[in-house]
Amino acid sequence: MNYEEYKKAVEKLNIYSNHYYVLDDPITTDEVYDTLYHEVAEYEQKNSDKILPNSPTQRVGDVIREGFTKASHLSRMWSLEDIFDSEGLRAWLEKTYKLDKNISFYCEPKYDGASLNLIYENGELSQGITRGDGEIGEEITANVKTIRSIPLTIPYKEKIEIRGEVVIFKDEFEKINEERIKKGEAVFANPRNAAAGSLRQLDSGVTASRNLVFLPYGVGENRLEHKLLSEKMEYIYALGFRKPPLHSTCQGFEEIEAIYEQMSKERESYAMMLDGMVVKVNEIASQIDMGYTVKNPRWAVAYKFPAVEKVTTLKNIVLQVGRSGVVTPVAIVEPTDIDGVVVERATLHNFDEIDRKDIRLNDKVIILRSGDVIPKIIKVLTHERDGTQTAFVRPSTCPVCGSELLDEGVLLKCQNLKCDARVVNSIIYFASKPCLNIDGLGNKIVEALYHSGLVKSVADLFDLTLEKLLALEGFKEKKSQNLLNSLQNAKGCDYWRFINSLGIEHVGEVASKALSENFGSGFLDATKEQIIAIDGIGEEMAESVLEFVRVNRETILKLQNILEPKEPLQKEEAKENPFKAKTVVLTGSMSKSRDEIKELLESLGAKVSGSVSKKTDFVIYGEDAGSKYEKAMDLGVVCLSEQEMREKISE
Ligand code: NAD
Repeated sequence: MNYEEYKKAVEKLNIYSNHYYVLDDPITTDEVYDTLYHEVAEYEQKNSDKILPNSPTQRVGDVIREGFTKASHLSRMWSLEDIFDSEGLRAWLEKTYKLDKNISFYCEPKYDGASLNLIYENGELSQGITRGDGEIGEEITANVKTIRSIPLTIPYKEKIEIRGEVVIFKDEFEKINEERIKKGEAVFANPRNAAAGSLRQLDSGVTASRNLVFLPYGVGENRLEHKLLSEKMEYIYALGFRKPPLHSTCQGFEEIEAIYEQMSKERESYAMMLDGMVVKVNEIASQIDMGYTVKNPRWAVAYKFPAVEKVTTLKNIVLQVGRSGVVTPVAIVEPTDIDGVVVERATLHNFDEIDRKDIRLNDKVIILRSGDVIPKIIKVLTHERDGTQTAFVRPSTCPVCGSELLDEGVLLKCQNLKCDARVVNSIIYFASKPCLNIDGLGNKIVEALYHSGLVKSVADLFDLTLEKLLALEGFKEKKSQNLLNSLQNAKGCDYWRFINSLGIEHVGEVASKALSENFGSGFLDATKEQIIAIDGIGEEMAESVLEFVRVNRETILKLQNILEPKEPLQKEEAKENPFKAKTVVLTGSMSKSRDEIKELLESLGAKVSGSVSKKTDFVIYGEDAGSKYEKAMDLGVVCLSEQEMREKISE
């Protein structure tokens, strides 16, 4: 890099930062930013006389937004030095041990959200301030007071600054985006932007509606006398703040690496997004001795996880037709490795989203792959267009059967019940786990059976014979016999599985269980009033059931004859116990699987529901409970840990 290139790189980084910190709408990935940042830092190390004062290495990044009042922190806030691999860790440890040999470390998650400083005086929250330039930030006390995990009072009377990250849990983020899609609003790119954007609102009502969560990671000015950071943090958690899902003290390289490995492996299961692990010197006296650079503490480092967002190119948009006829656009992208998985396809949500984001073929885009969810295109890099981009034309006919599509704005639907894609997908659904759970009837096999002409509907599956299967290409004796056995085993299934497998619109597993429990095969003759009377079933669902039965009664009866599903047993009345006839919601991870705990509670006569409302009697929470726990606290619902639940049962 020469001086001219250096100047350009600084300018570019500042543009990226403006979009990231001020507009909460980044125009590149952290990875691209970090790579350029490190090139700049390297140049500056070799040319210390040429460092530009506006270089991002010289300051903490955020800029104060118009409309907010400024406020000073009592003591400075900092950024963190980054490392990306074992080599980086070794180098950092070497540097740090040179400053002090007798140190140990405290490791905790690096939350991906927005920094916040809370000032408490006389045990009361007096101010909430964003990090800003490290010395002065935006005063957002009114917004901060709407965050339920921030105590308004603490049982500690000295003046203290408590620092932490404001995040949006992943499930809440998905929910907000689903609602925004329904309302035709633009979706948030990722939980970090959603958190930062929701925190810095001029209207605190908006902040309040977003279920933000505060996770403390340190203190600023304080008179606590603990000698170790780990003790200080335990004290802070005990004041009424949330604990990190994993935190640990340790010694040296091997132990830090082991915690990093564990956190990196488990990160998908945490409720919040993490972008790394922070390693901090645990001894407060050593921290004070080590001090700070212009930007970072010398006693801490951010050990980043592999990036989950990457820049790639949109090559094509293909269309998929689901069992309900909804046509979904799927992006085909230039194959890109994200955290060890090569991503080639990504969801685009729906056609409105393509229009809203003005997504064009050959655009550079940012894709996000996090956990098991399908990768998503979260951003189009319009500033990188080079004239080769072409608009995507919204289809008017079904890509599979050619019939005209019904355009409902957000959704396009194929209305042809006989459309190959609809039939194939409804058979796949019929055989899937939460339905009849038929082993050996995966997507490829269903397609092969359908296209061979042997299976044109679900009922045809049960006319298959060994002879017919063996005549098909790729069906050997063992595979064919296994399939026939699985089909045979599906007979006599639970009644709710039978209802679920019909694929009635809006009716999923929970509603199928409720319908089965209340009516058994009588659901075919249930009236709207009777259906709506079931807890958790609304008008839309009831109408969908009635309409489905009206149109498909013959088919349902035929299938029922073939499958002979078991009528639900009249439940034995459970003995008196604290959970009998109560509505319970489970959240977080527990010592047993969710299904086992659910079964246990159901055997006690409890109804286990998926979402928290005023009608919920108990929320049972495990490690790392999510937004359901927050909501329950807000509504005053009784929250019990798994241990407390077990104690109550044995009472
Ligand atoms: P940072 O976010 O990498 O690290 C410092 C911050 O981490 C702290 O201020 C704090 O808010 C947070 N943090 C989370 N958990 C923590 C913990 N346990 N202990 C201490 N702090 C914790 O640094 P930064 O200076 O805010 O931002 C730089 C980073 O932001 C870059 O590495 C880059 O990835 C990203 N960025 C991206 C763009 C973009 O365009 N994509 C632009 C600018 C910056």
